[in-house]
Amino acid sequence: MRLVMLGAPGSGKGTQGARLAERLQVPHIASGDLLRAQVRDRTELGRLIAGCLDSGKLVPDEQVLDLVLPVVLAAAAGAGGYVLDGFPRSVAQAVKAESVLAESDAGVERVIFLAVPEPVLVERLLERAGAAGRSDDTPEVIGDRLRVFQAETRPLIDHYRARGLLLEVAADRPAEEITQAIVTIL
Ligand code: AMP
Repeated sequence: MRLVMLGAPGSGKGTQGARLAERLQVPHIASGDLLRAQVRDRTELGRLIAGCLDSGKLVPDEQVLDLVLPVVLAAAAGAGGYVLDGFPRSVAQAVKAESVLAESDAGVERVIFLAVPEPVLVERLLERAGAAGRSDDTPEVIGDRLRVFQAETRPLIDHYRARGLLLEVAADRPAEEITQAIVTIL
């Protein structure tokens, strides 16, 4: 199964992505993790993108696509699928990825949209910020990340709905319940 997890920051993409990948026995590919690893390892790319990550802005398409697509193609070929989390983040990214993936029969089969009311997102992100860890989980950057989601990522919902790929799941409830709901609709 080749899945995309779609949702705002704090919607549980990471948690559900990991759970689904385990159930489906395919790799969980989180673009944010791949990008943060570049920063941590102080690669040339890492130095270029650190500012974007810290401020919650999207990393330029070319850099994200170059990093993520080879991993996606390898998972599709080697494990027969993937759970993509955090990519694509815009319609432009989706369109660029579609043409590359289609060539290898590795295109997205289903998109799970995790629907969570905005006040709950803010609450969850602030909790995560309190637990300290990520440089972009600060109250200042959280607002920017939610705005980036609304402006850039939200249009993907219609994009995938029009292609008949979208499955919407209410995600303001316990994690296990959400996983069960997703497995059932899949
Ligand atoms: P995430 O871990 O998915 O919340 O992503 C953390 C940060 O990584 C985002 O705020 C962006 O700066 C960057 N990022 C992750 N995925 C993408 C993507 N597909 N396109 C552009 N930037 C991304």
